[in-house]
Amino acid sequence: MKDNIVLYPLIGRGHLFSMVELGKLILTHDPSFSITILIPTPPNTTPISPTTFFGSHSSSITFHHLPTAPPPATVTALPPHLRLIFELTHPNNHNLHQALRSISKSSHLKAIVLDFLNYTATQLTTALHIPTFFYFTPGASALTCMLYSPNLPPTPPNDEHEPLRIPGFPLISAKDLPNYHSLQHHAIFSDVGLTMSECDGIIVNTFEAIEGRAVKALEEGLCFPEGATTPPPPLFCIGPLISVPSGENDENGCLRWLDSQPSQSVVLLCFGSDGRFSKTQLKEIAIGLEKSEQRFLWVVRSRSDSENEERLEELLPEGFLERTKEKGMVVRNWAPQAAILSHESVGGFVTHCGWNSVLEAVCEGVPMVTWPLYAEQKLNRAVLVKEMKVALALKESEDGFVSAIELGERIKELMESEKGKELRQRVLSMKVSAVEAKREGGSSYAALSRLTQLWKKKNHLILHFPDT
Ligand code: UDP
Repeated sequence: MKDNIVLYPLIGRGHLFSMVELGKLILTHDPSFSITILIPTPPNTTPISPTTFFGSHSSSITFHHLPTAPPPATVTALPPHLRLIFELTHPNNHNLHQALRSISKSSHLKAIVLDFLNYTATQLTTALHIPTFFYFTPGASALTCMLYSPNLPPTPPNDEHEPLRIPGFPLISAKDLPNYHSLQHHAIFSDVGLTMSECDGIIVNTFEAIEGRAVKALEEGLCFPEGATTPPPPLFCIGPLISVPSGENDENGCLRWLDSQPSQSVVLLCFGSDGRFSKTQLKEIAIGLEKSEQRFLWVVRSRSDSENEERLEELLPEGFLERTKEKGMVVRNWAPQAAILSHESVGGFVTHCGWNSVLEAVCEGVPMVTWPLYAEQKLNRAVLVKEMKVALALKESEDGFVSAIELGERIKELMESEKGKELRQRVLSMKVSAVEAKREGGSSYAALSRLTQLWKKKNHLILHFPDT
């Protein structure tokens, strides 16, 4: 029987794909392990097919679908991404219990790795004495904020712009924290921070060269909750892990179009798996692109799409598509972003600052303009602009609206100014560091070796399964 590591991702493309890449990385590093990836099934969906989503994979990876969990006991008025935690993870502990029981019969269960938002699973894994690790998908700097959140006041300070001091993190204002105004949100993140501070280790999809200050603060335990009784858990920065979904095709012809464009001349605008804009904002973006006079590839998603997907002509200013057809390409909903960023013709990226997008841009040496939309993306903006210095920040109004003039100017600055050149040089040097980090002897390679050796040393678990 092989030594088995169970990976428990959150549903949601960014989290799920990144966890699958983690599984592949572990096996590439040490093929003596086997990996089981638990896949939750949200209500009213059909289970996803691993081969469709993840292509062919090693026979040492098994996907185990958890049945749909019963509805939560209390209905919570939370934003959708947080509702997932309550509707899927917590009620899923019973299913998790059954899955672990069956896995431990056919392999030597050594450890479980939880997505950080699956933190309520520790109620079960602790009771079963299973070594429990967290996988933090958004990077080390965001992790310092998450762990530090129990130390932050639960209500916003009088002056929202007053800088917050978080160890290992650049100065930010309270309004840059994820939904800082929601008390419920603060309570959840405090819980996540406390739970993570007591686990057996934290795996982070980053590498030391881009987030050195945050990594140091984490290793020194500076950002752990005050009063934490245990020493800080060991940290394993094993990235960058980039997931390029198999079978992702170029049905819109983006890559073919890029083939016909000059080197480093095109700006990509793409906003994660759920970045959507109002029709007014979409029109403003279009005007900004025309003002910038740059070549562009724009992935358009509208807030109104869920009701009825409108044609591009109805969403964009009259004549825009015709006027810009020599310079720009506009596609609906989805484009193969990682492949696009790796294309020679791409020279800039307007991003919502999701961490996977950030890593994809860094690994291809593409400088960015930041337009955070949700979750921890304003934190990532601070890191990209102030710490890594590979991006320009867009100024948005209080309600998040960005004017055409602002967008046009920042894009032009990124593509044409001396400042833009400096950013490009910096991100290109990070691209080199990313390769070095993963080579034998590099920081991420060393972290992965420490992690797999630690797992090897753990005793085989003889699990007793109390009733849940
Ligand atoms: N992505 C893509 N095409 C799109 C939008 C997103 O391939 O049109 C991919 C992107 O390359 C990244 C992931 O989806 O790998 C988005 O993850 P990220 O962490 O950046 O943002 P999230 O979707 O979690 O907000």
